[in-house]
Amino acid sequence: MTISVAIVGGGPAGLTLAAALAQQGGFEIAVFERAEDHFSAETYNPDRSYTIDITGHGLRAARFIGITDRFDAELIHFKGLKIAPHPWLRRLGAGFTEEPYHGSGWTGSRGDICRCLQAHLLERQADTVVLHFGAEASIVDAGQPLLRIASRGDGAGELRRFDLVVGCDGGGSGVRRSIADHTTGFAVEGVDLGNHSLMLHLDQHLDELDPQYLYVLAVHPVTAVAGAINGPGGPADPRWFCQIGFSGTIAFDSAADAARFLDRGHPLLRHFASDTQVEQFSQRPCLATGKSKRCSSLVAGRVALLGDAGHPVPPVGQGVNAAMEGATVIAQCLHDHRDSLDAGLAAYAARWGRETDALRRIAMTVDLSQSMTPFRIFIASFLGYSCLRLAKREDLSYAEAWEEFRRGEDRIRRTPLGLVLPHSRG
Ligand SMILES: Cc1cc2nc3c(=O)[nH]c(=O)nc-3n(C[C@H](O)[C@H](O)[C@H](O)COP(=O)(O)OP(=O)(O)OC[C@H]3O[C@@H](n4cnc5c(N)ncnc54)[C@H](O)[C@@H]3O)c2cc1C
Repeated sequence: MTISVAIVGGGPAGLTLAAALAQQGGFEIAVFERAEDHFSAETYNPDRSYTIDITGHGLRAARFIGITDRFDAELIHFKGLKIAPHPWLRRLGAGFTEEPYHGSGWTGSRGDICRCLQAHLLERQADTVVLHFGAEASIVDAGQPLLRIASRGDGAGELRRFDLVVGCDGGGSGVRRSIADHTTGFAVEGVDLGNHSLMLHLDQHLDELDPQYLYVLAVHPVTAVAGAINGPGGPADPRWFCQIGFSGTIAFDSAADAARFLDRGHPLLRHFASDTQVEQFSQRPCLATGKSKRCSSLVAGRVALLGDAGHPVPPVGQGVNAAMEGATVIAQCLHDHRDSLDAGLAAYAARWGRETDALRRIAMTVDLSQSMTPFRIFIASFLGYSCLRLAKREDLSYAEAWEEFRRGEDRIRRTPLGLVLPHSRG
């Protein structure tokens, strides 16, 4: 029997899910994406774009859907982190410290990654997956499940019934809202750390940077992580962004005010950004990047949630990785329970729910409102139990990464350092 699946949202989660289900066989798949297709859309938005790394968990998913060769050819290879020296040490001539990433990995913008996924679907799975761009889908009845699909200019839209609907519609998910409004016992709990980010574009002295690394340019009083995405000429023509993270919101009176703010973070920020970029930075709106949500279940009847729709967390380098891996987990669970869609969905909710709970705990350790957070991350990194690094490992699940981090913290708590180490919110 063929199962009809509607995927609402054609971002990293939705496109990976389409590829994973098509590969398993037995599904008729329609993806509804309200935006235009990824080859027509810009690959980045100057106010919101940042560099994403696909590592351990995303790599597992990339192998599952057979897209690693395309990533190798079309994305920038990822070799690890380079961490800037403290400004005092820099003045004494200290250089970047390298934390290599052992394994295959890539960096790019969300648009770079989505272009690869869309091309992969068109090349390999055009028979089983129908991609509808410019098509907004909303749930009319979660029980059946019934969707209304509205394409631009077609008025009320069309009603379509599916065996299964998967909401891959991002952090502000309408599918999640519909389930919450109409399903007894389904609850969504939200936490906001109050972290925010602003994007700084880097445009000078770029020959000092290697696009195959992410650069931690500052950790206190702001965090600043820079990385490359594909430029107009692809991976060999990198374009650089730096995500500046801080607690609360900020607005600048002038470019000079923004320059002073950047100087307090690290002199390297202005070393790599021209005055024009600082001026544009001073006018950008803050992005809220401290929000996390926990759904009481990732499944309600025949509707499932995946990616940021089901488990949005503050950015710790795992949003796309988790979205991609979660897609393969649904596909595997449905395949393992071919005789019962409900049993497959229950298996997904149990298995991936545990993992995303652990991922949320990992993400909540980056609480920028706590002055001890950079110190805590530094100690964990120095002593080899950094949960951000453990989360990138291919050989650990998120639950295992979290447990290893907790064991590391417990060991430190039994030493004098434990007296100043804050407790994790997880
Ligand atoms: C500052 C910052 C830095 C980050 N850095 C990293 C990183 O280094 N590594 C990493 O892995 N992740 C990172 N992330 C997170 C990552 O970008 C997201 O987690 C990821 O894009 C989620 O993918 P998704 O497919 O679940 O959702 P989205 O990417 O949000 O895609 C959802 C899609 O659904 C569509 N849609 C919404 N509603 C409808 C509807 N009703 N009908 C049809 N379509 C609809 C939207 O148009 C969109 O295309 C970062 C995030 C931020 C904010």
